[in-house]
Amino acid sequence: MTTISRTPAASTNQMYDLAIVGGGVYGAMLALEAARRGLKPLLLEKNDFGGATSLNSLRIVHGGLRYLQSLDLHRFFESTGERQWLLKTFPELVEPLSCLMPLYGKGARRPPVLRVALALNAALSLRRNQGVRSDRHLPAGQVIIAEQVRRLFPMVDMEGLQGGAIWYDGSMTHSQRLIMAVLRWATMLGATSLNYMEAQSMLRQGNQVVGVVAQDRLNGQVYEYRAKSVVNAAGPWCREFAAQIDRDIPQLFESSIAWNALFDRPALSDHAIAVAPKQPNARTYFIRPWQGRLLAGTVHDPWTQPLAATPMPTPEQLADCLQDLNHAIPGLNLKSSEIVRIFSGLLPAKQAGTAELSVREVIIDHSKQGGPSGLFSISGVKFTTSHLVAEKTVSCVFPNTVPASDGEAPLEVQRKRGIFDFNWYPNSSEADWQRQLQTLIAEEAVYHLDDLVLRRTSLGDNPDRALSIAPMLCELFDWDDRRCKQEIARLESYFRQRQPDYALEFTPP
Ligand SMILES: Cc1cc2nc3c(=O)[nH]c(=O)nc-3n(C[C@H](O)[C@H](O)[C@H](O)COP(=O)(O)OP(=O)(O)OC[C@H]3O[C@@H](n4cnc5c(N)ncnc54)[C@H](O)[C@@H]3O)c2cc1C
Repeated sequence: MTTISRTPAASTNQMYDLAIVGGGVYGAMLALEAARRGLKPLLLEKNDFGGATSLNSLRIVHGGLRYLQSLDLHRFFESTGERQWLLKTFPELVEPLSCLMPLYGKGARRPPVLRVALALNAALSLRRNQGVRSDRHLPAGQVIIAEQVRRLFPMVDMEGLQGGAIWYDGSMTHSQRLIMAVLRWATMLGATSLNYMEAQSMLRQGNQVVGVVAQDRLNGQVYEYRAKSVVNAAGPWCREFAAQIDRDIPQLFESSIAWNALFDRPALSDHAIAVAPKQPNARTYFIRPWQGRLLAGTVHDPWTQPLAATPMPTPEQLADCLQDLNHAIPGLNLKSSEIVRIFSGLLPAKQAGTAELSVREVIIDHSKQGGPSGLFSISGVKFTTSHLVAEKTVSCVFPNTVPASDGEAPLEVQRKRGIFDFNWYPNSSEADWQRQLQTLIAEEAVYHLDDLVLRRTSLGDNPDRALSIAPMLCELFDWDDRRCKQEIARLESYFRQRQPDYALEFTPP
């Protein structure tokens, strides 16, 4: 059975091997990895599954090209290995993405340098397609001439253009479905996942952790779940939670903000374009096609506000980004009024108050720092490497277990459900959409309208569409008029908080 049932009271009757706090991609991968090793995991998520940082990524499964530049071969091999794992395991949900960087002969961005880098990238990732379905294979990269760049990316600035570098990564266009696929598979193997369940404290026997106390956020009920060990995978909240249940561990998380902007503009190319304004030390932006639209980012900035605040860029940061993009692509003339939605979240920084990202995951065994046995905290850096970190963590918690052998996830869990084009609207000739959504509501612990719209389907990719069909979607639930209004208001508020309407109309100089 791959149905995720929300049964908080009945779930207290079990003895779990592992309780996982946090249902982002790191928690979900932990549940899957533990279940695949024959362990019995329980996952507790205080809001909805995958609704925080994990909903906001640029949805690129990074290989290692960027890490070759910094000669971080460890990271290169980990990333290419995880890209291969994701393409092999979830071929229905992860697909190749071609990336194109116009080359203007500045610094390392010269055709001869890129030719060597791409050859090295291909040679060091020779096994990248091993075991991967043939339609998910990644070709080797290449350097192309300026005229070819223009054909692939018609708006490219031709002045000084010397050519372009093409390489391939993975794309998880509907990353929310990937998280649900991971959870459904874990469920099939015996995991229990409960959303809207906030872990509050640990159950202890002497110096041993023996479970978690959690509160149901839908009705305030408090439950005790017994587990042999607990992993705190609470993402940006992991340090705060570690301090709440044991002690502050600064290396777990110092906040920085990362964000992308989705524009109501047709995509510029079938390729994800890597561009930078022609100034020294300028930031590089990825402009990727997403749902036929233009998704640009990822911008990293310092973040000093409390965790409770919705992470959003300031008007100045947004204006800088627009200015950079408009300089990098003359004639693009993007305006903040075209932003459909900001995707933003907090990521671990190397140092407090900076935007420099941590490069490695942190896995803490609290008993080695004077804390209780059986308690672990983790903090990851990329969606791409979440499975590897789960593997390392479960091996640390249960050293006598071994990772499951590779293999494709069952098709039943990977099936693309609730995926609609950006401009799709329900029409009477298509009766199937309601049935599809009703199945999702029944099978994936959907409680709020925004669970369905944002985290089970692609309906929320287009906020105008989502809000205009919201009353129709409410009819799929057993809700009275008052509840429908509350749910629609909740969805509106979510979108409102992610709009840059505070950013003044910006006119590029
Ligand atoms: C703008 C942006 C772009 C990115 N682009 C990419 C990309 O293209 N490729 C890539 O590989 N990575 C990318 N990343 C990084 C990636 O998204 C993150 O590394 C990853 O999503 C982190 O997942 P997580 O599970 O650690 O955190 P989260 O997704 O934040 O999950 C943590 C969860 O813990 C829950 N929680 C907290 N406290 C409790 C509690 N007490 N009880 C129960 N639950 C609790 C929270 O509600 C939350 O859902 C990007 C990130 C951002 C922000």
